[in-house]
Amino acid sequence: MKVVAVENFADPSFSADLIGWQKVHGRHALPWQNTTDAYLIWLSEIMLQQTQVSAVLGYYARFLERFPTLRDLAAAPVEDVMAQWSGLGYYTRARNLHKCAQRVVAEYDGVFPADPVLLAELPGIGRSTAAAIAAFSSGRRAAIMDGNVKRVFARVFGIDTYPGEKKTEDAMWRRAEALLPETGIESYTQGLMDMGATLCTRSSPSCERCPMQPRCVAFATQRTKDLPVRKPKKATPEKHTVMLAIVDNGQVLLEQRPPTGIWGGLLSLPELAGHVAAEDDEVADADHGALAQAVGRFGELESYDRLSTVTHVFTHYKLHIAPYQVTLARRQAMAAEAGYVWCDAAKLAEAALPAPVKKLLLDLVGDRREPQQRMF
Ligand code: SF4
Repeated sequence: MKVVAVENFADPSFSADLIGWQKVHGRHALPWQNTTDAYLIWLSEIMLQQTQVSAVLGYYARFLERFPTLRDLAAAPVEDVMAQWSGLGYYTRARNLHKCAQRVVAEYDGVFPADPVLLAELPGIGRSTAAAIAAFSSGRRAAIMDGNVKRVFARVFGIDTYPGEKKTEDAMWRRAEALLPETGIESYTQGLMDMGATLCTRSSPSCERCPMQPRCVAFATQRTKDLPVRKPKKATPEKHTVMLAIVDNGQVLLEQRPPTGIWGGLLSLPELAGHVAAEDDEVADADHGALAQAVGRFGELESYDRLSTVTHVFTHYKLHIAPYQVTLARRQAMAAEAGYVWCDAAKLAEAALPAPVKKLLLDLVGDRREPQQRMF
């Protein structure tokens, strides 16, 4: 029988402690506080997305001077809205702000709905912003969850998985819902915001003044620096290829690469299709038959040697090149082989080759330029 763990996130003492602290130590004089006007609250919540209070204050005042009501904003040309927003950044917020004002005028006769679910359907208002607007304007019980709240939760409850991961984020939302107080949602919501902004800050939390200290797992285990868990770094993908360095009579066979893609438009060595081991560091050795077949287009295979693997690091992946030095018994005329060229070994240093391929070839055939021409 499958056993399902039962979550019990409810804890009325959490909200009681937070509300008690907020009433005494929280912020009470911000320009968008002490009002239930949803327009004033909504505007502040949108401006405060990704922007600090100190940066918002001046913009908020100027914006309201220009657009004192929701109807003024809805009726204004979008260019005027953008001009007032100019300098605040994240301009999609301004475009959505304007669209949202027009929707509220058209669909709700200029009055924001009280239901957070309806609010969240409006442009630029996500679940958390909808909850904050509903809590402050209508006293509706709804949970917020932004970066600050995630940080506080991760530390207080010792959540040691990355909050950006869906499973962790979903659990945080369930916890946030379970912790909502029966009364005092305004102080509670403001308390979470105040704690995240003024006490439980990213780099130097003021644990000595924090109302959550007695229950805070990060404080008790000295992990305030480690929580919340940072985004895990993705392992660099590894790719593998087999390259053929076909050397004949002091010349090397080069292939013109397509104009786009890696090393677009450069010359390089022919690659052995179908011999790319993508999963581990080990490059599968090309088997004799495949190699003879690939070389067959250019001449009769005499012998080949597996050279040391060359690893080249690109921005997004590592490329492991397994090079084979190939000697021909007889060269084939290449009239039908467009895109290939025999290059004198002495000219390799000046050829338009990718750096790792050039190095590989110069190591192989020796740098045959005159000493005064050499740059390396
Ligand atoms: S005790 Fe420190 S780490 Fe824990 S919630 Fe308070 S400020 Fe954050």
